[in-house]
Amino acid sequence: MNDNHDDWGQATRAVRVGHRRTAEGENAEPIFTTSSYVFRSAAEAAARFSGDEPGNIYSRFTNPTVRAFEERLAALEGGESCVATASGMSAILAVCLGLLKAGDHIVSSRSIFGTSLMMFTKYLSKFGIDTSFVPLAETEAWENAIRPETRLMFLETPSNPLTEIADIAALADLAHANDCLLAVDNCFCTPVLQQPLALGADLVIHSATKYLDGQGRCVGGAVVGDRKTVGEEVFGVLRTAGPTMSPFNAWVFLKGLETLKIRMAAHSENAMVLANWLKACTTVERVHYPGLAEHPQFELAGRQQSAAGGIVSFEVRGGREQAWRLIDSMRMLSITANLGDTKTTITHPATTTHGRLSDDEKALSGITEGLIRIAVGLEDPEDIINDLAPVLDVP
Ligand SMILES: *Cc1c(COP(=O)(O)O)cnc(C)c1O
Repeated sequence: MNDNHDDWGQATRAVRVGHRRTAEGENAEPIFTTSSYVFRSAAEAAARFSGDEPGNIYSRFTNPTVRAFEERLAALEGGESCVATASGMSAILAVCLGLLKAGDHIVSSRSIFGTSLMMFTKYLSKFGIDTSFVPLAETEAWENAIRPETRLMFLETPSNPLTEIADIAALADLAHANDCLLAVDNCFCTPVLQQPLALGADLVIHSATKYLDGQGRCVGGAVVGDRKTVGEEVFGVLRTAGPTMSPFNAWVFLKGLETLKIRMAAHSENAMVLANWLKACTTVERVHYPGLAEHPQFELAGRQQSAAGGIVSFEVRGGREQAWRLIDSMRMLSITANLGDTKTTITHPATTTHGRLSDDEKALSGITEGLIRIAVGLEDPEDIINDLAPVLDVP
């Protein structure tokens, strides 16, 4: 069942796609905890191994629960193919291993997840793949950084933690004019708020750990794109190198996808309330949130995203001392760098997620000592505000 879901809306796809009901008649998706699969005959085994006949062989390659998650996420992103991975980082690694070779060049946004930056600079560089970093929102900077050997452009939008927005359609055009692929890490928006493939991107990357799970339970990742690039080339890496998603985690993410649409709407609503409240605090110098009219790419965000998302950052007056004082005063908010959880989290990027950057790199990326990032959860927004108010809301 569910093979033809083209005319289903996104909420329906999130609930229904991917589950092939077994003879037991189960309504919820089963978890297939099996490492291998049994063949009916030697000839069938041979046909499966040679690829003449489709079907499961071994759970490093395929597993029915993992496949259900892959099909559901592909349907939500509007992609032909999805490969699930053990983590968001292994999704990025599988893309690079599958699609790049020594001598190739990457142009990446400077404002990406710290570990992604490390993957490019510390590890891919060892294998002769060079990366140039550019300011996310400056399309000309991307153009100037492209070389004849550039094969991949990589970005996250909105960026972490400053919520800058890239023009995905413009960058996709630029990529294709230069024989490059555009990969978008869609972790912050999820397909509910933004569909990069529809805007021209070639690959969507996810850390399923964040909003796809949505309750901070499991680590996982995924790549979505066309049948050849993802279904063959990226899948080939997974099958060979083995950063496979476990069936249990796939099941958790499947159930997460079912509530993704209502969760993202609620995260965005709460974040908007918080951003407006922060704006009115005299102790707050600046608020970064794409839902605010004063955000430099407010209009682009409105065109590209269906809501502004759950991440709000702001600068407090008084630098690190005041930022840490605020964090240490929390009674409810969780002091953790994770995001995409029902629980609101608060973090000081300059000394945690971006702590390894030099002072110059921090200045370039706009990571000031007074900057705080909040990943707004699903509590009552008044309670989130009540936690912040004693330090921030002073007359
Ligand atoms: C967390 C994160 C990753 C890495 O994902 P893991 O699941 O932790 O490996 C990549 N990109 C972004 C934007 C993230 O927030």
